[in-house]
Amino acid sequence: MIDTKKLDKLLLKVEKPARYVGTELNEIIKNKEDIDLRFAFAFPDTYEVGMSHLGMHILYNLLNTQKNIWCERVFAPWLDMEEVLRENNIPLYALESKDELKDFDIIGFTLQYEMSYTNILNMLDLANIPVRSKDRDDSMPLIIAGGPCAFNPEPLYNVIDLFAIGESEELILELSNLYAQCKKDGCKKDEFLEKAVQIEGVYVPKFYDVVYNEDGTVKERVVLNSKAPEIVKRRIIKDMDKSYFPDKMIVPYIDTVHDRVVLEILRGCLRGCRFCQAGMLYRPYREKSVDTLLDQADKLIESSGHEEMSLSSLSSSDYSCIGDLATQLLEKYEHRNIGISLPSLRLDTVGFDLIEKLQEVKKSGLTFAPEAGTQRLRDVINKNLTEEQILKPVKTAFELGWSTVKLYFMIGLPTETMEDVMGIKDLAYKIKDLFFDREREKIKGNLKVTLSAACFVPKPFTPFQWVAQNGIDEFYDKAKKLDREIKDKKVVFNYHAPRISYLEAVFARGDRKTADALMKAWEKGCKFDGWSECYKHNTWVESFEELGISTDFYATREREITEVFPWDFIDIGVEKSFLLNEYKQALEGNTTPNCREKCSNCGINKRNIGGVCKRV
Ligand code: SF4
Repeated sequence: MIDTKKLDKLLLKVEKPARYVGTELNEIIKNKEDIDLRFAFAFPDTYEVGMSHLGMHILYNLLNTQKNIWCERVFAPWLDMEEVLRENNIPLYALESKDELKDFDIIGFTLQYEMSYTNILNMLDLANIPVRSKDRDDSMPLIIAGGPCAFNPEPLYNVIDLFAIGESEELILELSNLYAQCKKDGCKKDEFLEKAVQIEGVYVPKFYDVVYNEDGTVKERVVLNSKAPEIVKRRIIKDMDKSYFPDKMIVPYIDTVHDRVVLEILRGCLRGCRFCQAGMLYRPYREKSVDTLLDQADKLIESSGHEEMSLSSLSSSDYSCIGDLATQLLEKYEHRNIGISLPSLRLDTVGFDLIEKLQEVKKSGLTFAPEAGTQRLRDVINKNLTEEQILKPVKTAFELGWSTVKLYFMIGLPTETMEDVMGIKDLAYKIKDLFFDREREKIKGNLKVTLSAACFVPKPFTPFQWVAQNGIDEFYDKAKKLDREIKDKKVVFNYHAPRISYLEAVFARGDRKTADALMKAWEKGCKFDGWSECYKHNTWVESFEELGISTDFYATREREITEVFPWDFIDIGVEKSFLLNEYKQALEGNTTPNCREKCSNCGINKRNIGGVCKRV
């Protein structure tokens, strides 16, 4: 255990000490003597971001249901805390026991965002654990990783010992139990890895080599260990009603990104937006029953004292009993002033009676995600949303008294022209007109239309995995032109830093060569790259240049349709031929119906869940 008295004094020097002390309500403490396996759930971003992540709460509590396993938490220390730790030779420790990470059997990182990769290296280094897997002997913890970015694990192939691919609820227990058994039997780490790689969903990078073509693209993958499969199949939870969900969540002392309990109502998405990685990675669409959700909601509310519950999913309004569920939850909790929020509503599919009911307890602004400003481009990305479907609910909202609207877009989408970019402004102006083109006495409140634009990042396993990203200058040209054209003070435009999105694109579709640049950039001081105040673009450029690696090769290069991708050895269930066909349809501006309207044979049902997509 680290010296906690010394730590207590030093914490007075940092901005938010509560990030580093643990002891929150519902934290789990166990007796070390009763434990066979110690697991550190590592979130490579700040405490506030990590504590808002549902997956962490699920896996933390799930692992702790096992008598012989103790799972604790560790987050990336912010810059001030890192300085304190380094200056005072205090290794990175887990919040529950305050034991240093080196004392753990397994450290499991969650990969939510490519821009957190340098934080993984930094956290290992702060724990005095060698960052490269080849430099860690058997006395060191096993380093594993999962989460959406693990679907292209190659940029971290030399850091992580084992990747867990897909939904982890079952896999994490299988792996932990195997590890505990191996530990009892006195197995070496390599013996464990050879057994682990035979579990579905496990990828051990050192059991493979990659051969490249002269042009730098992947030629082939060579399996180096006969126990390792050629193709790694993603894990899927078949029945959401039976899958584990915690009945309590840790309640932080400080404000986090989302201060509320979260109820996951469904997994997957039936929409098929072509830019969306989650929509493809988490197919098929699977709902929980209302009874299960009411029961889970009760337990969460009673154990946490939170005043807000968020119903989470990729598209909550698609939940087939959304009205029934929301009404029952409201009836149960509104007298206790507990609000219910539905962050991912499609306003074209839910009635305003529901939205009004939800907002009686806590009123907030309305958000829409048209993603593109013109119908042509919305068809290309398969948003399946007409202008009327955007404007009609906005008009109703204004009539009911709303006056603030937030709209989310992307710039740099495939086939985008300047006309599409200006379409964002046109849409905002149409919304403004809807607000003011009414009888004077009906206009209430101050109109504010906020337009937020993200820079499009092509992601693996999407129909746009073949496309070239816009260059940094192109992004800036588009965003700045749009910014100049918006002259109305009621309309506010902001956009995400193109440089960060460019680097995100490099690692999103990166191969093993990008791993060296990652290491170099971290050695030169890069960390918290997703935070614009910390992002060091020039250091990144320098790191790639010194290694002779072209970032454009990964970000702005259009791929041949025959190209072998670094992630092609992972089988997510959705067929590559389906993704390719969707790409072709996009280029022709054709839309594909959602899974509820018509199955488009993406492949997931026949190969992974026994023939049908349930409850679609
Ligand atoms: S198999 Fe059909 S219904 Fe199921 S996710 Fe794929 S396209 Fe949708």
